[in-house]
Amino acid sequence: MQSRSPQQPWNSNQTWNIREPSPADQKKYKNLYDLFQITEEWLDAIENSKYLFSLHPQIKKQIFSLNEWIKKNLNYSLKDQIGALTPTDYINEFFSNIWNSQAWTLKLLLKETIDDDKATTLNQLIHLAWRAGFKNFKKGPHKHKIEPSKNPSPKSKRTLQDVLTLLNDSAIANYNAEKTFLIKKERSNEIHAYFLSCPHQINIAPVQESANELCNIHFQWLKGFLYALDPRFVVTKERENNFCKLSLSYRDARVDDKSSLN
Ligand SMILES: [Zn+2]
Repeated sequence: MQSRSPQQPWNSNQTWNIREPSPADQKKYKNLYDLFQITEEWLDAIENSKYLFSLHPQIKKQIFSLNEWIKKNLNYSLKDQIGALTPTDYINEFFSNIWNSQAWTLKLLLKETIDDDKATTLNQLIHLAWRAGFKNFKKGPHKHKIEPSKNPSPKSKRTLQDVLTLLNDSAIANYNAEKTFLIKKERSNEIHAYFLSCPHQINIAPVQESANELCNIHFQWLKGFLYALDPRFVVTKERENNFCKLSLSYRDARVDDKSSLN
């Protein structure tokens, strides 16, 4: 983790070199903020819940200092933040800090829990990630981008493609490439796609060490987000050819009616 203050004074000799953040830079920056909301949900639980994560004060302190740099700078716009750095350099540093702090926070929380409680702690973290995804959709500007039809069947393929487009500009978006998903199979009511920016694909050592757990956590964020969009979306995840493959479909209300009769 770097602790460089982003509030560096402008260097007048370098002003020729300064570039305004582009809309694409702003988008990446905002998506990273959204990714940090998962960690923030954990920090809130550590701070405010008597029943979750009873940690040694020293560990608590360590976790909060890991996230201090990010938390301190949450309210500034990207333009105010970058100081003498180029937007790209700033975003790369921000990317590394957000992922590192999330992986280290997870690692410390799991390490400091006694063995029997590890599964419980992980479940709590996963549940909080679901909540972060749910809240992100409810609060965010995504709400008005998709209006799922009350009778989605005739255009469900289009709706599913819209969902992937929406996720392309979200906390779990791919920062290094245009695409977040590589579509493998499409049918009228389901899409199967490789998730190109899941934690298994992030080349940062602490992320790699906890990739299985972190991937499940990000998947739950996605489930919470989709649930807020429309509870009838169904998404599952499995490993295939070194990728995590997501299968997205829309639960048909008529099938549900039938199964509720049984
Ligand atoms: Zn994965």
